[in-house]
Amino acid sequence: MKHELQALDYDMWALSPLMSEETLQFHYAKHHQTYVDNLNSLIPGTKFADMTLYEIVRYSDGAIFNNAAQNQNHNLFWKILGPKSGTEPSPALQKAIEDTFGSFEEMKSQFADAAVKTFGSGWAWLIRNDDGSLSISSTSNADTPCREGKTPILNIDVWEHAYYIDHRNARPKYLEAFWELVNWDYVSELYER
Ligand code: MN
Repeated sequence: MKHELQALDYDMWALSPLMSEETLQFHYAKHHQTYVDNLNSLIPGTKFADMTLYEIVRYSDGAIFNNAAQNQNHNLFWKILGPKSGTEPSPALQKAIEDTFGSFEEMKSQFADAAVKTFGSGWAWLIRNDDGSLSISSTSNADTPCREGKTPILNIDVWEHAYYIDHRNARPKYLEAFWELVNWDYVSELYER
């Protein structure tokens, strides 16, 4: 099965100035594309050749895992972002946030803390637990909570390639812009799925 770069729901300039077109041209059209291309070059002739992307992430390791997981991680990342539109969590997600963290602001604070403190390259995640509660975690490099069968509903890429063009080394500034771009309609849809 040949994997394709997932189409964006918006134009590459549509997140600017919070996330520039140049960042999308590198991060989406080059970095993400490379993970897709690498995966397509690695799987022919292996047991992963006909698996879905999700299955490859669950059952592979090494280079195949790294490229499959990075492909899947970015697929989520581009979907949970969108042009600034003032979206908010749905009532059900808002209730889960308040039940788990006390408030929306406290959830944002803990998520940002996990993102900023991720050492080196990686991701921070908001996960929907089976009982409807939420949790926050951070992973290194390509790793993802999906590997343990968990259900992430929000993520942030904290590899330097995600923010160096727009914010240089200032990861906290990137976090501030990120919150303005989160498409809570889509995150809520994932929570309620
Ligand atoms: Mn990335």
